[in-house]
Amino acid sequence: MTSSVQLNRDIVVRFAPSPNGLLHLGHAYAAMIAHDFARERGGLLLLRIEDIDSARARPEFVEAILADLRWLGLDWDGEVIFQSDRLESYAEAVERLKDIGLLYRCFCTRTSMRRAQESGSQPEGPDGPIYSGTCRHLDADISFDRSQAEPHSWRLDVAKAHALTGPLEWLDKIHGQQVACPENLGDVVIVPKDTSVAYHLAVTLDDARDAITHAVRGDDLFASTHIHRLLQALLGLPTPTYFHHPLLFDSSGAKLSKSRDSASLSVLRTTGQSGYQLVQDLRRGIFPVGISLSTA
Ligand code: GLU
Repeated sequence: MTSSVQLNRDIVVRFAPSPNGLLHLGHAYAAMIAHDFARERGGLLLLRIEDIDSARARPEFVEAILADLRWLGLDWDGEVIFQSDRLESYAEAVERLKDIGLLYRCFCTRTSMRRAQESGSQPEGPDGPIYSGTCRHLDADISFDRSQAEPHSWRLDVAKAHALTGPLEWLDKIHGQQVACPENLGDVVIVPKDTSVAYHLAVTLDDARDAITHAVRGDDLFASTHIHRLLQALLGLPTPTYFHHPLLFDSSGAKLSKSRDSASLSVLRTTGQSGYQLVQDLRRGIFPVGISLSTA
């Protein structure tokens, strides 16, 4: 621990990158915010590698994440946590949700969903198109028979789940008290076709398992929190306090992202820049040319 503040185990924060690409400046900013949030309060900072997407997660990206964080001078507490070590606990939770009748099989393909989107039956939500519910009321026998031959995902019946829990709230220290509106995201996928668990369930279970008191993360995940709050209520899990911080944008006004090939930290690291200086600058709100912080 680098902090002189007394250790306060009532504050547990995590940085939770997915090793499906190289980290960029936006991740450095997010890691710095989570790190400083914990350290300024004498709390713990955990590092959780969210490597459940077996098709995209790669060991070399894990190595790069660890090297980037060390280069930035951002330390964490304890062993690195890997979601891939926790698949059993996700499977148990999936069974619980199935047992209470809240998950249904979805046979929709990317193509059929794209068509639905084009025809307007899948309106755009805050986090992408909202599923139209085509498979929600499939007859149970038909659904079972089809599942023997057809790839399928499992979706959460959000309206049914929310009716079961009743109204829910959560606190965001930046955006204020929130009334949970998981319907805004629609029936999210809980078990994807090709992997054993989706982000929403894994992150909700792990924040509880890791006793996270403050989920400090970027604004791009603000909308997802409505679903996480619902899953917490369904599974009897505690609700952390949320802190969704602004994101970094490039000169075209787009948020930095792996898919847009935003300049990676690895490149900066290997060209001899000082990671320590970079973090100092980010702390002071000094960003490289063309990069700015969202104000939303
Ligand atoms: N693994 C997620 C990502 O890299 C972040 C999860 C979270 O902070 O809740 O976008």
